[in-house]
Amino acid sequence: MLGQMMHRPLSTIEILRYGAETHTTSEIVSVRTEGDIHRYTYREAYHRVAQLAHALQKLGLKEGDRIATLAWNGYRHFELYYAIAGIGGVCHTINPRLSADQMIYITQHAEDKVLCVDLTFVPIVEALAEHFPNDMTYILMADRAHMPESRINFLCYEELAEGEPTEFDWVELAEDTASGLCYTSGTTGNPKGALYSHRSTVLHAYTVAISLGSVLKEGARVLPVVPLFHVNAWGLPYTAPLTGCSLIFPGSALDGKSLFDLMDREKVTSAWGVPTVWLGLQGEIAARGKNPDGFSSVIVGGSAAPRSMIENFEVSGVTVCHAWGMTEMSPIGTQGLLSAHEEEMLSQDEKLDMKALQGRRAFGVDLKIVDENGNALPHDGQAIGELYVRGNTIISGYYSNEEASDAAMDRDGWFGTGDVAYIDADGFLSIQDRAKDLIKSGGEWISSIDLENIVMAHPDVANCAVISVPHPKWDERPLLIVVPNGDKRVKKAEVDEMLLKQVAKWQLPDAIEFVEELPLTATGKVSKLTLRKSFKDYKLPDMK
Ligand code: AMP
Repeated sequence: MLGQMMHRPLSTIEILRYGAETHTTSEIVSVRTEGDIHRYTYREAYHRVAQLAHALQKLGLKEGDRIATLAWNGYRHFELYYAIAGIGGVCHTINPRLSADQMIYITQHAEDKVLCVDLTFVPIVEALAEHFPNDMTYILMADRAHMPESRINFLCYEELAEGEPTEFDWVELAEDTASGLCYTSGTTGNPKGALYSHRSTVLHAYTVAISLGSVLKEGARVLPVVPLFHVNAWGLPYTAPLTGCSLIFPGSALDGKSLFDLMDREKVTSAWGVPTVWLGLQGEIAARGKNPDGFSSVIVGGSAAPRSMIENFEVSGVTVCHAWGMTEMSPIGTQGLLSAHEEEMLSQDEKLDMKALQGRRAFGVDLKIVDENGNALPHDGQAIGELYVRGNTIISGYYSNEEASDAAMDRDGWFGTGDVAYIDADGFLSIQDRAKDLIKSGGEWISSIDLENIVMAHPDVANCAVISVPHPKWDERPLLIVVPNGDKRVKKAEVDEMLLKQVAKWQLPDAIEFVEELPLTATGKVSKLTLRKSFKDYKLPDMK
């Protein structure tokens, strides 16, 4: 028997309309590429989105067209998210840190019709435009006064929107209509596209709002350091107007000092980003001897957050939530806030141990770990296997890429994350590694994340990574690469002593190498692939 309830298609613009009508004093604050600060309410944003939607329609854009962005976190980028999807288009966010080849590939693969660009990225467009789709229209996200001299025929964003009606009769779209497109910045092969729908995006917003209800609430002021150009800034452009928290967009200045100043001035309550960003902020906090005013929570994910980083925040009164997810998952899959019972009953050490794990699944995300034959393994905190996921916010295949889709999905329709993990009886996920980063030594696995986590707590270590080095007898052995904190170079014996408290002797790194900095991927993660390439001919002590 069928239920007898209305069926209203889920649509992203409804989130902003809701925010505009109900959270009337919440605001969006943006550090602009023009150099000043811009602020307005969700209501004003909604009317500007309507104007922009009219302007996009006048350009001849229609349902299904891909409209790309190359921009920092700011209000115009936010407006594009909603206006593009509102007219039935697909907002294709491009990561400006991708290589030229990758950028050309994805604009061609997505067949982008329009590219909307922040001032900073004009040189990229000038260098690559001849390789982008021929009929591309370029829009510069600035006002007339800031239009640059350029051989590219840029339309002016503000001029396009100016004078257009501040209301729009939003087309009723089927909820499965595509709304956004983000390519994974995989380190090998061509990037692969995750094509989000209105339905998946709205459900993700609900999911995250519920999972992180203690952080995302009316009155909260949230700083997405995580970029709008990569996985929708973890969904914040949607969860913020939904829950009523204000958004503080940092623009291009993401160093510790700039973030501290912005957070302090704007009374940011919660900041979201990858661990590398928080290393910078923690340095600034240590130098000033205080936290930014009002700062009370951090959401960290994208790569494993070291326990020592979590501890640093927690002892200063900042609650850390360690989340895990993927581009292909919209992106949030798990989050690590502890239950009231755990907060009350566990010792500080036990809490930190739990927070260093990747947390529990969000509602609507199913997790399974499987052995090499695809058989499901128990969630007992012991069995380690490849992690598969299923749910309404997870891709069912890659955009226009059958081969990659076939490789990623199992026969029951679950998506293979490429991560190796265990899940304990309380539902906590522990990511051991990307499958390709695991170190396979003598038929056993060594988790590079586990080793890094422990070594990061050493005061003479600013950052570190563990990679596999080919070995004639053991296949692979771990090499520890350290960025020193100051002049002192940590001794191998000291590192071994720290590690032996938690890992077996055969898992100890065979050697330590020191570098000035670690190579990062386009999404701010340590690039193990680049490190492995640099050290591929490395001779470990017993191979010399
Ligand atoms: P991306 O699609 O760029 O967001 O990358 C997703 C991948 O980042 C995941 O498959 C994991 O390998 C890694 N990742 C994300 N969050 C975490 C985390 N909290 N701990 C460990 N790895 C993570």
